[in-house]
Amino acid sequence: MVSLKSCVEQGFDVTLFEKESSIGGVWAPVAGKTWNTLHTNTSYFSSMFSDFPWPKDTELFPDQCAMYKYLNDYVDHFGIRKFIKLSSEINTVEKVNGSEWSLKWSNQQGTMTTEQFNYLIVATGVFSRAGKHDIQGLEHFNGEILNVSEYRDANLYRDKRVLVVGTSFSGAEAAGEIGTVSKYPVIQLINKPYYVVKKITNGKPIDAHLYSRELADYLSKQDPTKISDIIHAFYGSLSRENDNVQDLNPDKSLAPFLTISNSYLDRIKDKKVEILLNKECSGFDENGLLTYKKQQQEIKEKIDVIVFCDGYLCQIPFLPKEVKDKMKFIQDDKFLPLLLHKCIFCLDNPTLFFIGMYKGPSYGSMELQARWISMVMAGIIKGPTQKEIEQGIDEEQKVRDQRPRPQLPHPFHIQYCDYMARQIGIYPDDDKLQDIYKQYPQLYKLLYNNLMSVACYRLWNSIYINPNSFNESPCPIAMSNLQLLDDKIYNNSTSINVNDN
Ligand SMILES: Cc1cc2nc3c(=O)[nH]c(=O)nc-3n(C[C@H](O)[C@H](O)[C@H](O)COP(=O)(O)OP(=O)(O)OC[C@H]3O[C@@H](n4cnc5c(N)ncnc54)[C@H](O)[C@@H]3O)c2cc1C
Repeated sequence: MVSLKSCVEQGFDVTLFEKESSIGGVWAPVAGKTWNTLHTNTSYFSSMFSDFPWPKDTELFPDQCAMYKYLNDYVDHFGIRKFIKLSSEINTVEKVNGSEWSLKWSNQQGTMTTEQFNYLIVATGVFSRAGKHDIQGLEHFNGEILNVSEYRDANLYRDKRVLVVGTSFSGAEAAGEIGTVSKYPVIQLINKPYYVVKKITNGKPIDAHLYSRELADYLSKQDPTKISDIIHAFYGSLSRENDNVQDLNPDKSLAPFLTISNSYLDRIKDKKVEILLNKECSGFDENGLLTYKKQQQEIKEKIDVIVFCDGYLCQIPFLPKEVKDKMKFIQDDKFLPLLLHKCIFCLDNPTLFFIGMYKGPSYGSMELQARWISMVMAGIIKGPTQKEIEQGIDEEQKVRDQRPRPQLPHPFHIQYCDYMARQIGIYPDDDKLQDIYKQYPQLYKLLYNNLMSVACYRLWNSIYINPNSFNESPCPIAMSNLQLLDDKIYNNSTSINVNDN
């Protein structure tokens, strides 16, 4: 949607094809990937577009309905609904005439239509389909098996013995929610302990801790070989409550992993969620009983329901093989399925772009990606050269080859956004920053000592900054966005002290 809006702003004739009967992607109830009681794990300041603030009275961590409404309101506010074809699935894509794209799409009735476009933007998300469920002896289990995307209501499992497999964000939420209502403890099978933090930590939303410029600056000055230790210490300081939970004791020799949930940690503490490490579990025996070792004792347990929370696969079945080969696409690689330059550009395909194929706080980065490519397509700025794309893909190969793998392929979110902002000429250089500091000291504080809001990339112009426009007053919408953030989060609170640990 943000790609559509950016292209419309640049005057393109655009069509957005959506296979579901409504917009909203993972937040659309019809997509069945999120559930009513699911709230965002970062505050709405990280889940918004720069020129469309959330209403002032919004809950800090909006639920599925609020996210769905926000996205619908965004589309209506910018008048772009008319460019969207719902219930229209792209089935195949073919490159024609050297650089154009012929798309075959089907509507609800199954009617196939072929249309040709000069540019193609793939924004089908990285959460396309649940991954393969892998647990020994699963064929002997005869209870209910569901993926977390099918999970709807914890109350359905009140009287069930539930096994949750996986510990990332959805795993923690599902285990916490079910453990709160279930009469049996939930068993949660995990690969390794994570740091668990609450959505509000030390008086601030967790994204204010994780995505501050102050922290990004601090990390950029550290010895890269020490970053893992520093992050361990930092996550440890955020999740001090973990210290009292023996089951959660992250291994400092491995990369640090973090999960965010309000109820989960309390449920572990009151034994309503019991942690079971993979290495202690031998799966299901021939009678369908979960078999594991605890304190040298073999335990066999009856399970009624398994909720798999073991990640999603990215699927792009409609793209031609030669394009997938250029991106070294590996569908089963949940960490980094495709190798693109800056997560956007594909080698030898200058009219093809990818938006949102990025794991992390996605709204700000998606918006910058969309603004970047729409300006490239409009000829306002030059895109990267083939050589740069090649180098970018080589860097991504190194990211993919990392062992052990970190939690996110691209952990330096602010640097990534700043890089894109520089490409499109909206990142103030040092002189401009000094100007801002002198002219608007309060704004400087909002930009630096703050949660990194995407609003900081739209301060002086609705589409992109005219470098001469810094003398004008900053954009009121972006300013009010930043001001709201400051009022809501930072008033009467202390700033983040990264040296604390
Ligand atoms: C359970 C869950 C919780 C999450 N929580 C958060 C959170 O708290 N904060 C956050 O920032 N992010 C969160 N995310 C990440 C989420 O991916 C982003 O919020 C955002 O929705 C990504 O948008 P997207 O448009 O890139 O992808 P999606 O939302 O997945 O949208 C892709 C769209 O492409 C459509 N599509 C796919 N294939 C085709 C085709 N062949 N033809 C036509 N249409 C097609 C799909 O139907 C879908 O509507 C969460 C994700 C999940 C799964």
